[in-house]
Amino acid sequence: MKQNIGHWTDIFASAPNAILVTDPHANIMYVNPAWEKLTGYTLAEVKGKNPKILQSGKTPKHVYKNLWKALINGEPFVSEAVIDKRKDGSLYQIQATFYPVQKDKKTIYYVQIQQDITERIRIEDLKSEFFSILSHELKTPITVLKLLIQSKFQKKKELQLTPEEMHFFEEELDRLTDLINDMLDTSRIERNKMRLQFEVLNITELLRTMIEKLRMVAQNHRLILDTANPYMGIADKKRIEQVVINLLTNAIKYSPEKTTITISITKHKLHTIVSVKDQGIGIPQKDQSAIFEKFHQASKKSGFGLGLYISKEIIKLHKGKIWVDSEEGKGSTFFFSLPSID
Ligand code: ADP
Repeated sequence: MKQNIGHWTDIFASAPNAILVTDPHANIMYVNPAWEKLTGYTLAEVKGKNPKILQSGKTPKHVYKNLWKALINGEPFVSEAVIDKRKDGSLYQIQATFYPVQKDKKTIYYVQIQQDITERIRIEDLKSEFFSILSHELKTPITVLKLLIQSKFQKKKELQLTPEEMHFFEEELDRLTDLINDMLDTSRIERNKMRLQFEVLNITELLRTMIEKLRMVAQNHRLILDTANPYMGIADKKRIEQVVINLLTNAIKYSPEKTTITISITKHKLHTIVSVKDQGIGIPQKDQSAIFEKFHQASKKSGFGLGLYISKEIIKLHKGKIWVDSEEGKGSTFFFSLPSID
């Protein structure tokens, strides 16, 4: 097999991305100047060597496993989780695209194109940390403000507020607290810092309690729990309550007064499925998958678009799934599944 890539090197030489080419046995044949600049090695130093010399030990193992699976099947592979080591020992994170070059179904070269994303990841981490600190810092003054205003309101003389004004004030503070909590959760999720506390849970009981709580604030909707059977699961109680509250408040927010919201729970082979069905505005088909993304809002009544994103992440941490079935103008049913225990 002729393994001369000489005539291509002029084209690779001016590429801004780092490029590495190996033979089918993963021996380095060529690296371009951008690669030399990124890693600190010269072509002469690495020629004939295995790219393993760059491994830092920090790339998740599954990346290499999936990489080889793809390459052996003749397919390309892209990963942003590769952390390599320069000649001087410093680490860098790359977005790496790997692909095999095949002739007559036989691999003749492996090519790797790399882009240094260390700085981007550093800025993303900083942003996320800033988000987290800011949210923490905002929480305390808001709690203090709420307590203060409540105590002043009780001593009526000191604060001339009507009960309606007081109610409005409290509602706005609650909204602000909800937003801060959502921001904190989002930052936890992004930094892989959301920790769950699993326990054996009677999910039916949890739903009943949530519905009773919400009935007090949503007197204009009919909330129905469509089961009496106890369904058990292993879950983080607070986090599942958060998901249920989110689905129920959305159902209330996006459906007209006097309509019914039905909460059901059913057991399948491996999963218990909870559903929240409303008779509201529905969600256009084109938005149905995007509503689970961060900051996605599909209607004018929308809040900050974090609730369903956080719910999806919570359910994912429970090894369950969340999805929606909806028709515009008719209503939506949100489902989530949790692994069953028996
Ligand atoms: P938020 O309600 O704060 O905007 P969510 O993440 O909870 O954020 O929801 C994202 C979007 O999905 C909402 O803005 C709304 O457009 C849509 N949505 C969620 N639940 C419903 C529902 N039950 N009926 C209609 N639209 C909904």
